[in-house]
This record gives sequence, structure tokens and C-alpha cells, in this order.
Amino acid sequence: MLDADSTLAAIEGIDWLAERRPTEVARRIARLTQEAMAGTRPLESVYGERLAAVAPSRDELAALGAAYVQAVAPGAAACVAALQRAGVRVVVVSGGLRGALLPLGAHLGIPAADVYGVEVRFTAAGAYEDFDRASPLAAQRGKPQVVETLGLPRPLVAVGDGSTDLAIRSAGAADLFVAFTGYARRDHVLRHADHVVDSFAALRDLLLPS
Ligand SMILES: [Mg+2]
Repeated sequence: MLDADSTLAAIEGIDWLAERRPTEVARRIARLTQEAMAGTRPLESVYGERLAAVAPSRDELAALGAAYVQAVAPGAAACVAALQRAGVRVVVVSGGLRGALLPLGAHLGIPAADVYGVEVRFTAAGAYEDFDRASPLAAQRGKPQVVETLGLPRPLVAVGDGSTDLAIRSAGAADLFVAFTGYARRDHVLRHADHVVDSFAALRDLLLPS
């Protein structure tokens, strides 16, 4: 199970969208993201606030999808392919916006059905309307909940940079947590990780020792 933002790709989707807004909006949103990923504020307390402030249009979500593909982590595609060849089912579980994550999943050869994120609703004209407020992925403890619901084969390895990824292991929904530090290092997350890797080449060596 792989995280997307600051793991499979160098960007944080919501921050990328916010950068297309006035500076003060972008700064506020980046700060909220930091707090949520560091675990100092629960994700659900910032999720709606961030999205309402950004209000991405359908076109902007598509542009973010292209940006994810452009910002894909070096070696990620090779690592995913090697895992799949070894018979490992690779899924993406993200607190990001699913519509923008699908192109990244396609780029990595991960079926759309195995890309989990938060759905966004648009008006007929393509303006932002709302997000799926029932999605567990918009909440701090949502990732373990989703992973458990999927009934994925064990052993299960969770890979990510954030406190929401670590929570999968803490809740017992994963057998191993690998902190990915290629783009972000969070002390609280690193302290509780079973392993720490800074690249997908290192992750591949860890999971598929030759
Ligand atoms: Mg992340």
C-alpha cells in the first residue's frame, strides 16, 4: 500500500492547487497540510477548510493529474513493476483527490480500482461543488479503516511520509511501516517507522532483496 503525495510524487496535490491561488491562501493551506502530516492537527479538522479555500475546478483537477505524472518519484514505476512481477498487489491509498490520482496510477500500471482517494463533485459547468464528506480518507484515522475494509492479503506493507500512513501500522492494519523520506522528513513518523527509505530503489531492495 503506497501513499501518493510526497511519496509516489514530489508534490502535495492540495498545495499544488493552492499555489494557483493568492499567496496568502497558498501559505495558509501549506501550513495546514504541514500540521496534518506532522500529526499536530487531525486531518479532518483541516480537510474541508483546505478544499473550500482552494475550490478546484474540473480542469484544475485534470491539470493536477498531469502534474502528478510529471512529478513522479524516480524509480517508482520500476519498483511497482518489480513488485507486481513478484506477485505483490500494489494499491494507492491517499487522502488526495482521486480524480487527479488516476493518471498517476495509470502511469505506474496500477489499476484504477486499486487507486483510493477522495472523490470531488463538480457543477455541470465544471466548478467545484463539494467533496465526498463520507470518505474515511478525509480523516486522520481513515487510512487504516480503508485498508482494513479492502481485506488485502497479508503481510501488508504501508509506505508513506505522513502520520496518516503511520496510523495504518499503529492500528494493526499493516504489518510493516516504511517511512519514505524522499520528499519530506517528519520526526514523529520516522521515530515509529519499522524502516526508513529515501528512494524507490531503496524500497525495492528492501522489499525484494536479491
Ligand atoms: Mg504523503
